[in-house]
Amino acid sequence: YLMSIEVSKVSKYYGQQKALDEVSFTINSGEIVGFLGPNGAGKSTMMRILTTYLNANEGNAIVNGHDVVEEQREVQKSIGYLPENNPLYPDMYVKEYLSFSAGVYNITDSKKRINEVIEETGLTSHVGKKINELSKGYKQRVGLANALLHCPKVLILDEPTTGLDPNQLVEIRQLIKKVGENTTILLSTHIMQEVEAMCDRVIIINKGKIVADDYLKNLNSDT
Ligand code: ADP
Ligand code: ADP
Repeated sequence: YLMSIEVSKVSKYYGQQKALDEVSFTINSGEIVGFLGPNGAGKSTMMRILTTYLNANEGNAIVNGHDVVEEQREVQKSIGYLPENNPLYPDMYVKEYLSFSAGVYNITDSKKRINEVIEETGLTSHVGKKINELSKGYKQRVGLANALLHCPKVLILDEPTTGLDPNQLVEIRQLIKKVGENTTILLSTHIMQEVEAMCDRVIIINKGKIVADDYLKNLNSDT
């Protein structure tokens, strides 16, 4: 599919509160797109709808050709998700957690795949540690490794760099860019510099409405 994500007039209410208001956008295969907006704009709500954890009230969303309501299993297979404040399992060892997760995903040849993601996310020297012994940056690597285990075509990252110290910030940004060389990525943030550091394109959301959607090169040439 050339189109990885197609969102069409999605609205979501929490009681009277309208968290998403006729949101539409498309993301092509291979893009790294920033989903930028202040707290409460609706970013997490949109991401939970794309990952099938929440249903929209109106509109529809297609991920890798699969409808998020009608074909949840297919969507979950083709999408990797790093939620905000990823809970993980604090008392598990890194490798134990990834093995547990591979079992949940039903991954074939999981030993090989686990070693690949450990290497890819720079966790080699930390596999024997407990998750609660890791810094925030290494916890995010575990979250990324987990999201990549089943070789998803699309990655959804909710505020992946919030709360990282400056060194970790640089490293996690590099890692995300590297992963993005062969994976479509939608990542949320409330900071424009985040988008500039990692993304080709930005979709800006405010109060549940899309207010801008453009390639960074176009935005820069305007000024
Ligand atoms: P963002 O991720 O951009 O910070 P959210 O999608 O988390 O935004 O929230 C959008 C709006 O919906 C906010 O006003 C938030 O308070 C509200 N909201 C989010 N989740 C719930 C919920 N479970 N119940 C009620 N309101 C919610
Ligand atoms: P985000 O950074 O995505 O905005 P929040 O802090 O808004 O995260 O949300 C954290 C959790 O609280 C989520 O599960 C969300 O659904 C829930 N939540 C957010 N806002 C509300 C709200 N106004 N009422 C009830 N639950 C909420």
